[in-house]
Amino acid sequence: MKIRTRFAPSPTGKMHIGNLRSALYEFLIAKHEGGDFMLRIEDTDQQRFVEGATEIIYRTLDKAGLKHDEGPDKDGGFGPYVQSERIKTGIYMKYAKELIEKGEAYYCFCDKDRLASLRTEVVEGKEISVYDKHCLSLSKEETEANLAVGKPFVIRQNNPEEGTTTFHDELYGDITVENAQLDDMILIKSDGFPTYNFANVVDDHTMEITHVVRGNEYLSSSPKYVRLYEAFGWEPPKYVHLPLVTDENHKKLAKRGGSSSFEDLLEQGFLTEAIVNFIALLGWSPEDNREIFTLEELIRDFDYHRISKSPAVFDVVKLRWMNGEHIKAMAFDRFYEMAEPYLKEALLVEGGPPDLDLQKIAAMVKTRIEVFPDIPEMVDFFAKLPKYDAEMYTHKKMKTDRASSLEVLQEVLPLLEAEEDYSNDGLYKTLMKYVEEKGCKNGYVMWPVRTAVSGKQMTPAGATEIMEVLGKEESLKRIRKGIELLQNACKE
Ligand code: GLU
Repeated sequence: MKIRTRFAPSPTGKMHIGNLRSALYEFLIAKHEGGDFMLRIEDTDQQRFVEGATEIIYRTLDKAGLKHDEGPDKDGGFGPYVQSERIKTGIYMKYAKELIEKGEAYYCFCDKDRLASLRTEVVEGKEISVYDKHCLSLSKEETEANLAVGKPFVIRQNNPEEGTTTFHDELYGDITVENAQLDDMILIKSDGFPTYNFANVVDDHTMEITHVVRGNEYLSSSPKYVRLYEAFGWEPPKYVHLPLVTDENHKKLAKRGGSSSFEDLLEQGFLTEAIVNFIALLGWSPEDNREIFTLEELIRDFDYHRISKSPAVFDVVKLRWMNGEHIKAMAFDRFYEMAEPYLKEALLVEGGPPDLDLQKIAAMVKTRIEVFPDIPEMVDFFAKLPKYDAEMYTHKKMKTDRASSLEVLQEVLPLLEAEEDYSNDGLYKTLMKYVEEKGCKNGYVMWPVRTAVSGKQMTPAGATEIMEVLGKEESLKRIRKGIELLQNACKE
């Protein structure tokens, strides 16, 4: 049997990463087995509809590389793929009536006041009224008379008051509930629209979906869905309910606000491939615990049986690390294209050295940044020597201090003034020759030189690479400045 999965988002706002994770897992389950991945837009709740949200869904799937084989824009013979369009075909009403015929559903004409007087129960933090099956006892004639005069109605599922229902989840195993616990949920609302609870069953079946992946907030309703499948005599799909995604404090990731939508993460400078990699590992891990994956590698290795039941923590530190790994693996040209605006922002400033080689600087930072916005702070010293303290020349491991650094800078200055070859190699040879003659360790010389030309404790490259980029004039200017700084400091 061909695997068919679906992503069924409601167009209610941004694409939260919990949703994107469902989409990704659905996509991976299908593609791992050469199956089809379908997009269905669930817009039956008109009150929650947000203008532009459908476009976000398309944009996100496209950008993340989760290409759907079927959907509103790609007919595969199972359409329409938008629930508001499906309603017009009369499909939900047809199946609801079939359930009424079978005694598995019934018309309910209770008005607001009556419903308000019913017993309530708290389910998942929400207070809901428990319907008392009042309208189930209406005779056929009473029901028909009500319908004939146009009395508003809903259609409810008729759940038995005895016995149990068992359903199987691929991660949670068999779950059995007492039927008495199952409320007679509404299948068709008074506006004629189906509820999600009904539409998801009708659609998944008629669209021949084999695997349903969704958040575990749907776990508690699933026995009622299974009862619908049984009532119709249909085979339910395989269910995979995913654990919650939490923040570092183990609190549910906020849907609104915060920074947990796909587009927010892109704005923060994360790469699409890193976000996809990160989301894949929110609750799933491969057998060998490897962590860096391309989408193709995920398709090859994804096995949904290895999804964990414990909540997945959204760890930004880990996302940053992963992003850095994906940057390292990027082709240089693509990297440069993305890095250029950040380099320009930091380097093309008034009074800076002319002709800085941005490509060379880009190559220095490629293996060192985690996100692109890290670039400016790492390279700005090329454009302008920052103010720094003479104490920066003191380094325990390099065995340098202010006096030793002053001596070294004073001795290398004439060598660097005479140097013709301002390439990294040429400068390195010259300085190493000096190191040999002096009989000291490399760092004893390189530390003060690098400090003088950068004014920084940490740089993305060594002293001679930096000087190659700065050029002769600017390098000498900075070394002289370093000498002056140290002379003043040594006098104090
Ligand atoms: N429309 C539902 C949602 O966005 C889909 C749940 C499901 O995948 O069945 O939460």
